[in-house]
Formats: sequence, C-alpha cells, structure tokens
Amino acid sequence: MSAHSSENGDKSGMAPPAESPMPAGAGKKWRAGVLGATGLVGQRLVKLLCGHPWFELTEVAASERSSGKNYSEAARWHLDGPIPEAARGLVVKGLDPSLDCDFVFSALDSSVAGAAEEEFARAGYPVVSNSKNHRMDPDVPLLIPEVNASHLDAIRTQQKNRGYDGGFIVTNPNCSTAGLVLVLKPLADAFGLEKVFVVTMQAVSGAGYPGVASMDIHANVIPFISGEEEKMECEPQKLLGKWDGARFIDAGLGLSAHCNRVPVLEGHLECISVSLKKIACLKEVREALRNFEVDAELASLPSAVRHPVHVLEADDRPQPRRDVHAGNGMAAVVGRVRECPLLDIKLTLLSHNLVRGAAGAALLNAELLAARGFLNRRVSSDASQYAEPVPH
Ligand code: NAP
Repeated sequence: MSAHSSENGDKSGMAPPAESPMPAGAGKKWRAGVLGATGLVGQRLVKLLCGHPWFELTEVAASERSSGKNYSEAARWHLDGPIPEAARGLVVKGLDPSLDCDFVFSALDSSVAGAAEEEFARAGYPVVSNSKNHRMDPDVPLLIPEVNASHLDAIRTQQKNRGYDGGFIVTNPNCSTAGLVLVLKPLADAFGLEKVFVVTMQAVSGAGYPGVASMDIHANVIPFISGEEEKMECEPQKLLGKWDGARFIDAGLGLSAHCNRVPVLEGHLECISVSLKKIACLKEVREALRNFEVDAELASLPSAVRHPVHVLEADDRPQPRRDVHAGNGMAAVVGRVRECPLLDIKLTLLSHNLVRGAAGAALLNAELLAARGFLNRRVSSDASQYAEPVPH
C-alpha cells in the first residue's frame, strides 16, 4: 500500500488525503472553485479540498439564495466537525464564469448544471462535474479512473467539436452506478460479462438536502427513484465501453436495475447477479475482486485506494452503518459472493454515495486530470499568481 493511500475506514469518511507529492513540474497548488458548494455534495468537496495536497479552495458559488453571504452563513453544514477555517470566510458567488480559480467542481442541482457547466467550459475552465446533465454526451468522458482512464482522450475531440479553448467537461457517474461499475470492472477483465441484474437500497442522502420527506421514508421503503433505473442501465455501458478515437462504443451488456429508497443516511447497498462469458468458480471470482489493484499512475493520486474493492467474508456484511467508510469512503465493499441459480454468481455491494459516488469521485477525477497535464493555470486577478502552464 502506498504511503498516501488508506485502506482503513475513517469514522468521518472525510479525512483529507495525506501529503502526496505534486506531479512533476506542477509547481504550486491548483486553485479550485466549487459550484453548488452549499449542498450535500458541495460541502463534502469543500471539506476534502481544505487540506488537499494538490488543490486549494479559492471560490465557492451557489444560488441567489446564498450569493453575497459568507460560506459559513450560507451553508447549512451537515458534516461532523466545524466548517474548515479556509472556507468559512469565502464569499459565495453566483454562477458567473469569472471565478478566481484554475478549474471548477460542479455539484449543482441538475436544473441549472447543464447550462452553467457549458458556460464555464466555454469560458476556459475545466469542469469536473457530479451532475447528470452531460454524462451521456457523445464527447464528454464519464470517468472512473480505475475503470476507463483512457476515455480522457475524448477531451480533445470535445474541445474541437465545441470550440472550447482550454475548458472542457468531465463527469463522474450516478452514485449507485459508481460502486456497481467498480465491482464489474475486474469481473469484465477476468471473465467477460453478459448480463447484470441489480436491486438497490439507496440512502436518503442520495437525494440531496432536504431530500425525501421524513414522513414518507421513516420506517418505510419507497420502490421508485425518478430516473435512477435509466441511469443505472445506460451509464455502465459507456463506462465499460471504449473510446475509439472518435466516439464511445457501448459495452453491450444486458442490464436490468430496480432502485429503492431506504431509511439509511449514507451508503447505497446493491444486490447484484451477473452472468459471465467464461465459466469461473467462486474462489476465482473472489480472487479477481480482491486482486483488483490500481496501476502506479493511479496509486500516486492522493485520493486513490490501491485496492478499490474490499471483499468481506462474514455472512451479514457489508452493512451501511459498519462498512460505509471503508477506504475513506472510496472503496466498494463486497460480501456474500455465492452462486446464482438464474445467472452465474451473485453478491452484495456497498458504496458511499456521497464520497465514492460523488465528492470523492470528482476529486479523484480532478487528480487524474492534474497528473495528466489537463489542468492549466488561469491568470489570477492577483498578478503575483501568474504561473507557467503545466506541460502536457
Ligand atoms: P443539494 O444538496 O440539493 O445541493 C444543490 C446545490 O445546487 C446547492 O449548492 C444549491 O445552492 C445549488 N443550486 C440549486 N439551485 C441553484 C440555482 N438556481 N443556481 C445556482 N445554484 C443552485 O444536492 P446534492 O445532493 O449536493 O447534489 C448536487 C449534484 O450532484 C446534483 O446534480 C446531484 O444529482 C448530483 N449527485 C448527488 C449525489 C448524492 O449522493 N447526493 C451523488 C451523485 C451526484 P443553494 O444552497 O444556494 O440553494
């Protein structure tokens, strides 16, 4: 395990990454802005950015309800511990693409994310988005670094297609898709995949704040999450597919999803059945999951976990309350790997919807973009901040 990666659960699930060397030639930290900084995902990003070894939080933006206020007044803080000192006094801005930063994270509500992200990209900002709006665009990478880092090659095509000069959009998947695909990837590599059947039990925090009314969800299960099954059935096709230099080619999987909202605060649990192209015994399946290991480039990223899939042996695990913080919230936790009488194998998966499925995923995407030279220094309002572009 590398010095900066953690395989152990942190109680908060939000520990900023430990010191990690900057990419060669990078010089100083990249300045990051967060659009939608006051929301559930935005707050996680703010906390992760304060203390990040490569990035420095310089701007926060949200709706008219918040803009003009100090961040500490505007954000209804949901995380353990106080609002980080570096964020408290930042003045919340609106969505005008004139922020003093090198790139932006977007944790905006989807009603505004589509147009705002395009405006920022057009104004020259790299946009690292959590929102659904551009995930399936034919020239936008939908990225999980451990799964499809090569899809970043689509950025140049996107910039050419759209006339963006320096700016671009990269997205991370839906929160329930993130964990699913992390587990499917080593199975696809080792055995090939034919069909996937998945039933989710998704936490209330997946709906943002205030989310589902307490009167609806307390002691109850709601067997419908608008648009979720559609996302789960199409995003894995792009993630597990290929960029051929001009377009994304789908993985061609048979995929069916049932999505349910359950009275759990954090962590999406998923029951998954899979049919494989190549016959494999349970031991081989467990080994493929356990041995899934990131390469040296990914291992050098501050938020990376060297083994992103953790396999548990106990019959009654994973459980949201006990296992959601595995790998600082960045690991997919698998248990109950067994034979499936309908397909080939079945298993239970847990992943942290706000970390692996949102803020942590976006942060890891930004770290990969930085390591690959996709983040340039924008000229700051303070002339002393001029910096050399990072060589590609
Ligand atoms: P949230 O708690 O509802 O936060 C939404 C954010 O968007 C707030 O900062 C809000 O600012 C801002 N906003 C809303 N309307 C706006 C407007 N008209 N102009 C500018 N800003 C506006 O939602 P969330 O759970 O953090 O989710 C954020 C995004 O990430 C969504 O697109 C969501 O689908 C996606 N996502 C969420 C999860 C999850 O597990 N929650 C996982 C993956 C992806 P104010 O505070 O000023 O209203």
